[in-house]
Amino acid sequence: MQSSQSHTPRAARAHIDLSALSHNLDRVCELAPGSRVMAVVKADAYGHGMAEVVQALDRADAFAVATVMEAVRLRERVAGRPIVALQGPHSWDEAQLARAARIQVVIHAWEQLDLLARLGRGDGVEVWLKVDTGMHRLGFAPEELDRVWSRLGRVAGVRPMGHLTHLARADEPGSEHTDRQIRAFEHAVEGRPGLQSIANSAGVLRYPDSHRDWVRPGIMLYGCSPLGVASEVLEPAMTLKAVVVQLKRCRGGEPVGYGGTFVCPEDMPIGVVGIGYADGYPRHAPNGTPVLVGGCRAALAGRVSMDMITVDLRGVPEVSVGDEVVLWGRGLPVEEVSRRAGTIGYELLCRAGCATHRLYT
Ligand SMILES: *Cc1c(COP(=O)(O)O)cnc(C)c1O
Repeated sequence: MQSSQSHTPRAARAHIDLSALSHNLDRVCELAPGSRVMAVVKADAYGHGMAEVVQALDRADAFAVATVMEAVRLRERVAGRPIVALQGPHSWDEAQLARAARIQVVIHAWEQLDLLARLGRGDGVEVWLKVDTGMHRLGFAPEELDRVWSRLGRVAGVRPMGHLTHLARADEPGSEHTDRQIRAFEHAVEGRPGLQSIANSAGVLRYPDSHRDWVRPGIMLYGCSPLGVASEVLEPAMTLKAVVVQLKRCRGGEPVGYGGTFVCPEDMPIGVVGIGYADGYPRHAPNGTPVLVGGCRAALAGRVSMDMITVDLRGVPEVSVGDEVVLWGRGLPVEEVSRRAGTIGYELLCRAGCATHRLYT
């Protein structure tokens, strides 16, 4: 997916540094030395491009995506590595495709057990059981596990891998909810066979107790911290760039952009930059949201348009049309921009990575 602007030299571009991915994978391995790593590459690798990302992360022990269809597409690129579909099959077609492509499926519902039963004998499908320990999204209730296991025992050709749960609040400091989820998981799987997996990135970073057999980091592999502030140990993989397309001087008292939400406090330079919400830049980024112009911090001034933003250039020396502007990435943490825009780094990376042309180094 590329925006129609991608051929023009003025288009916004997402620069992807593949060595950052590999660096961040090393940090995961250091933080969770006893665990194997299921690298989460759903949503086109959080907007970074699944094909390139799985190559850069080829040392990961497995890859995980959200849906069976994503997993089947990934199988064409990754031959000899487990691929996990975190939502498991939602239809009979998906169940058959998952088996044919040797996809490990995470199941959370009785209907999925029915689908697996319909597959009958043949190559076994590897199955993880999702347990709902307090997120209240997907998963079997702990009380259901006895019945799930006894049903599994009667389904030919299913190979149980183990249990998995997902943390709802591991990004919050000192969350008792997370400790309760970890205890609930322990209790639910006690005495049951198989591998265990709990930790997303926040679990990897903050809850060693959640590491278990397999960790499932996503966002931290891309160099963005789930904890809201940039981490010193991670390197951002995406730097979103655009260029200055016009410079102007505005008079004190003049409004800038739609709705006139920014009024120049004095005579001042304004730069128009060729990126907007159609390129995945957040429309709700308010006045004052930082950008880097020629390496200097400058501030958004006025509303984000579809394909342009306007920037307060006071204090930025010698700007010319065509100069490079960094919206986030190296030198400007996406965590800071997302906080200003009232969202999370995940959303910004996914959107901009999918909306702009990507360049790899
Ligand atoms: C998306 C996802 C992850 C990865 O989460 P991050 O916060 O990006 O590390 C892990 N497990 C499951 C089940 C997920 O859906």
